[in-house]
Amino acid sequence: MNIDFDKSNGLVPVVIQDVQTLEVLMLGYMNEEAWTKTQQEGIVTFFSRTKNRLWTKGESSGNYLHVKETYLDCDNDTLLIKVTPVGPTCHTGNRSCFDTPYNQNFFFQLQNIIADRYANPSEASYVNSLRQKGINKIAQKVGEEGVETVIAALAETDFDFVNESSDLIFHLLVLLQEKGKTLEDIALNLESRHKK
Ligand code: AMP
Ligand code: ZN
Ligand code: ZN
Ligand code: ZN
Repeated sequence: MNIDFDKSNGLVPVVIQDVQTLEVLMLGYMNEEAWTKTQQEGIVTFFSRTKNRLWTKGESSGNYLHVKETYLDCDNDTLLIKVTPVGPTCHTGNRSCFDTPYNQNFFFQLQNIIADRYANPSEASYVNSLRQKGINKIAQKVGEEGVETVIAALAETDFDFVNESSDLIFHLLVLLQEKGKTLEDIALNLESRHKK
């Protein structure tokens, strides 16, 4: 990556975004040394203008930012880093330094929760009880909830329709997890169709 550090006195702004929820978490600055360290360690190190030194985010709180994807903007002077945050990113204890509602992207959060249940199969949970019953049962649930959604859509109350649609999407998320697929796969597929 050919970052133009010279344009703004050796410091480039870095937008930090949660790779799963897509929430913007904070903005910091990197000099070349901070960028090199970030790449070497896979966790974000800024140059702090306040501390006037390299600052590894999380160095005292433990709330590190694990680098997942990095993008350079069109004219090479701004970085976007998608991360997995260890804890709250803001020193106030908020997830984000920008006080945005966290559930803006709840589907991705729910996907993470389901993946988390799969990673801990011994824990008692509805997801794990579905998993134990096997893929046939999970697929069947998607079918049932699909039918219930159709019935609710044709009935009087919006309440049922929203509930059944929620059931359908939730069970589809479990089926995706079971099949090793993600919302990202679906989004890519839908997007590619849209481009045609
Ligand atoms: P940390 O790097 O998270 O261990 O925090 C160390 C110190 O950096 C804190 O005591 C704050 O002064 C400052 N700090 C932490 N997080 C942020 C942030 N998101 N934005 C600005 N300053 C921060
Ligand atoms: Zn730019
Ligand atoms: Zn903050
Ligand atoms: Zn239902």
